[in-house]
Order: sequence, then C-alpha cells, then structure tokens
Amino acid sequence: MRFRKKPTKNYRSFDPLKGYPADDRLFYECLQCGDIIPSIPKDSCRCSCRNIMIDIDYGRISIQDNNQIKLFSLVK
Ligand SMILES: [Zn+2]
Repeated sequence: MRFRKKPTKNYRSFDPLKGYPADDRLFYECLQCGDIIPSIPKDSCRCSCRNIMIDIDYGRISIQDNNQIKLFSLVK
C-alpha cells in the first residue's frame, strides 16, 4: 500500500479526577515498567508493576500513580 506507515503515538492529556478515558484507539503507557495496556482490553489485565489495572468485568480502570502513566491514541 502506498500510504502504509507505522502508527504514531499521539499523547493526550486528561484529568484523572474526571475518570479515565476508554476507547478502541486509546492506550495507557506505564512509565514505571514501560508496559502498554489498551484502554479496552479483551480481558482484564495489568501492567508488570501493577501500576495500571483494568478490570473488564467491572469496567473499571485503576491506576496507583497518575504521574507514572501516559495516555495516547494511535494515529495511522
Ligand atoms: Zn507498570
């Protein structure tokens, strides 16, 4: 394909006090362990250091340290 290129990360700011955004294209990056977690994973998951935990059953995103995460969307 002519326009094929690597998706780039588009970092976004958000207010954790108003809740954590979740979308097909949104991902959370843990700055402590470097793991990347989709905001809507297929199964409940967490990053290696457990800073980010997503519980699909409850539709809940828990983050221990908001200063150690980044939110980004993929731009194709
Ligand atoms: Zn982590």
